Amino acid sequence: MKLISRFLVVAALAVCAFGIQAKSISILIVDGQNNHNWKAMTPFMKNQLEKTGMYTVAVSTSPQRVNPPRNLTKEQRAQAQKAADELNAKAWAAWNPNFAKYDVVISNYNGQEWPKPVKDAFEKYMREGGRFICVHAANNSFPNWLEYNKMIGLGGWGGRTEKHGPYVYYDESNKLIRNTNPGRGGSHGPQHEFTIKIRNSDHPITAGMPTQWKHAKDELYDSLRGPGTKMEILATAWSEKSKRHEPMMMVLGYNKGKIFHTPMGHENGQSLQCVGFITTLDRACEWLATDKVTTKIPTNFPTANKVSVVPKN
Ligand SMILES: [Zn+2]
Repeated sequence: MKLISRFLVVAALAVCAFGIQAKSISILIVDGQNNHNWKAMTPFMKNQLEKTGMYTVAVSTSPQRVNPPRNLTKEQRAQAQKAADELNAKAWAAWNPNFAKYDVVISNYNGQEWPKPVKDAFEKYMREGGRFICVHAANNSFPNWLEYNKMIGLGGWGGRTEKHGPYVYYDESNKLIRNTNPGRGGSHGPQHEFTIKIRNSDHPITAGMPTQWKHAKDELYDSLRGPGTKMEILATAWSEKSKRHEPMMMVLGYNKGKIFHTPMGHENGQSLQCVGFITTLDRACEWLATDKVTTKIPTNFPTANKVSVVPKN
């Protein structure tokens, strides 16, 4: 009898351990090039997510851009460029993240085009039910990769214009607008604290959040444009610059795939440290991976007129 009960205890512990392990959501953060300090951003997000005990986070860092040295003669320059191109091609050929291994992929990447095999693998992952989060300048990436733009819905810079899709926003009277006027996509004013207005409190990501909360100092991206199909705007922020309520949280569908997109998260202020940003990222990961959210709104969540930040790692 004693032996049997001991066996049962061991078995139960094993099931528990297995259960906990099986529940862990696997996340891949892709970085390596960005006009923002990705070397600080990625570890911060990774740490915040892993602290919850719900996620295991891996990182895949793309090759850096190899540039030829400056101050060369014309002849030397051609040769150096050729050598740099060869180095670039070699490095990129060796980089091929296994997206399919992960429940959720987060992009903290804004840089050179990915090689075709990487793009193809990512499209396949998403078509077949992949989960993706686009953070801040990741929406500057790949202006002419149509499938990527369908995934993120809206993007900025990189020559984006009306050809890439409409501006999508709420106007002054809170009407959802798809504006096809010609013009550049992507802009922002000086960093400042701004109010996030929740547009749908029934979504698992936003449920229980104050309907308005103050986001820590960040760039308020405005005038993003793109296909914006299969997209729901969960939250906006009023831009004094564009005089529009600009999308700040979006959920999208792409074939069997699902996406969460936040233009928040410029790195050199306190935007990433904002409890609102962290909670949103955490909940988005859980929702994408499991279709529901159990993560509670923390007691130190920002309020309508008070920001709330955690220290850097
Ligand atoms: Zn920025």
